[in-house]
Amino acid sequence: MRGDTKLLIFIGDGMGGRPIAELDSQTTIEAANTPAMDRVAREGSCGMLDPIAPGRPAGSDTAHMAILGYEPEKYYRGRGPFEAKGVGIEVRPGDVAFRCNFATVEGKMVVDRRAGRIKSGTVELADAIREEIPKIGDVQIIFEPSVEHRAALVLRGPGLSHEISEVDPHEPDVDYFESHALEGAEDVAGANKTARVINEFVKRANEVLQDHPVSKQRRAQGLPPANIVLPRGAGTAVHLEDFEQRYGVHGAMIVEVDLVRGVGEYLNMDVIHVDGATGGQDTDELAIARAIVEAFETHDFVLANIKCPDLGGHDGDCQTKIDAIEKVDRAIGHLLENLDWDCTTIMVTADHCTPCSLMDHSGDSVPIAFFGNGTRPDDVDVYGERACSKGIMGNLRGMEVMNVMLNFAGRAEKFGA
Ligand code: ZN
Ligand code: ZN
Repeated sequence: MRGDTKLLIFIGDGMGGRPIAELDSQTTIEAANTPAMDRVAREGSCGMLDPIAPGRPAGSDTAHMAILGYEPEKYYRGRGPFEAKGVGIEVRPGDVAFRCNFATVEGKMVVDRRAGRIKSGTVELADAIREEIPKIGDVQIIFEPSVEHRAALVLRGPGLSHEISEVDPHEPDVDYFESHALEGAEDVAGANKTARVINEFVKRANEVLQDHPVSKQRRAQGLPPANIVLPRGAGTAVHLEDFEQRYGVHGAMIVEVDLVRGVGEYLNMDVIHVDGATGGQDTDELAIARAIVEAFETHDFVLANIKCPDLGGHDGDCQTKIDAIEKVDRAIGHLLENLDWDCTTIMVTADHCTPCSLMDHSGDSVPIAFFGNGTRPDDVDVYGERACSKGIMGNLRGMEVMNVMLNFAGRAEKFGA
């Protein structure tokens, strides 16, 4: 074994699934044409993975945390901080972060949660919010626009908590809510205060945006004005040990969505942007694969994620999901050709299942395959849910993945004498 082996975790987001009657009871992975992943399975060590625990549906954020060895049960306090990091806001321990939508309201009624998917003008709107609402009481307001109608908000000040209820009703044609301390959290220090600050922020953002020139212009064009900001997904920032400090490997992340990118930023990994990585079905998977090869010139570890299989799953569209899985396979095919497998180990996995039948994440295990340096072949010869369940690795949990990878790479520390 070589101590300088490079490690690659390659995640097809939401790629796992359940059998589908119209596909002869195959899953979308089983139905897809995946020669590269099949080779990884055939020549490597296979098994199944419970990202968090058996039967526990994982979010992309918690699954990535667990796979990187950061226990979500212990460290996860909501997705807000990852979103905020993902759009480039510095988040400090104690901050409470939210993802936000620019939305359209009439009075308190939410007419459009995404303000007509507003594409321009949000930078000006965010400037106005920063200028007019720098603080509420002793709490600093940090606000950044992201793509389209999305934005992130960070509250910084003493005694804040994420245990507050949602403002965003998550559906149109109803009034937005007043936030309050979550049930059972009435006594949690800071929950009442944070809810008050958020209610005040929403009200004042509405006042600032209502007659902003961008809103006036949109009304004149017959478009819904972005006249309010609806925060959601509150999360408290906690301190996480740097990835490099924990494992002694210099790590990079090549991922497509802010949420997962935020996990990498949080762990102080190098987050590499790839031109052509859109996060959609049109993403350039070969550009992503080339970026991985390049990243290994300066890094020991890469986590890559291609998002699109998850989208087909959420839409309940099997064929789109199959096409997306075949994109993941093409990226892996490029890597099989272009990396030195005597000193590289790859794990191919999903971060969770997104079965087309559920149109959401499920708590089913996902197929995994390790290939390259240190791995041992078993009798599995294709990548998929049925096949990998017979593999040598058995059922792993997300929290065990880094140990397994470091062992294959000859980088694991001996326990005992
Ligand atoms: Zn995911
Ligand atoms: Zn998803």
